[in-house]
Amino acid sequence: MNHTFYLFKTNEIPKGESGELLGTKFSSINSCEACGVPVKPIEPFFFKKPPKNKVFFVTNDGDMFFLSDYFKELSQFTGFKAIKAIDYTTEKWEGFIYLLPNEYFPKIDIEKSSGVSIKNICQSCKKSGFFDKITFDPIKKIGCPEEKKFFFNSNTNELKSDIYYSYEHYGVSNLNNYKGNVIRYARPYYIISERLMKYFTEKLPEKFFFENFL
Ligand SMILES: [Zn+2]
Repeated sequence: MNHTFYLFKTNEIPKGESGELLGTKFSSINSCEACGVPVKPIEPFFFKKPPKNKVFFVTNDGDMFFLSDYFKELSQFTGFKAIKAIDYTTEKWEGFIYLLPNEYFPKIDIEKSSGVSIKNICQSCKKSGFFDKITFDPIKKIGCPEEKKFFFNSNTNELKSDIYYSYEHYGVSNLNNYKGNVIRYARPYYIISERLMKYFTEKLPEKFFFENFL
């Protein structure tokens, strides 16, 4: 039987910054020399201007943060470490965590899969520079992400964890601070199990959505 996995996204409007520009350290093992990924953040994960009275938020850099007290049942799920996330101006921990998966999901078969744009992928590693494919919806008059259809060359049935990083990193990496670019890394999505998807759906139904692909 195939397990169903979900690409984990949010309807929350991104605010503020997080990550490398604020001094968050990243460990890099076997990272691509051209684009710098993959990297994993090292505790503490810095963000700037935390929103008031939120139990969850996402930044313009694409990082999601969870209030550990509100999401305390997360400790029942497997395959990740919760690292502390703090406001870089105060350097105080106010209970926010970042979910750091232990493993990466297998890579998609780029030729067969659809719903992602590969025009800007790093030619050196083919791990970064992915984008959601957007098509214009004439009724809603906005660009909407196309439904993703992912195919894999490797067997995904044996995957038992509740959360993974996607192998593919979305957005571009700027490893040098030139021509007004800020230094940043492309980010992986979270890929989560059905069990974890149901948990998030119950906790904050209006905030999360999930694209299933298996
Ligand atoms: Zn690369």
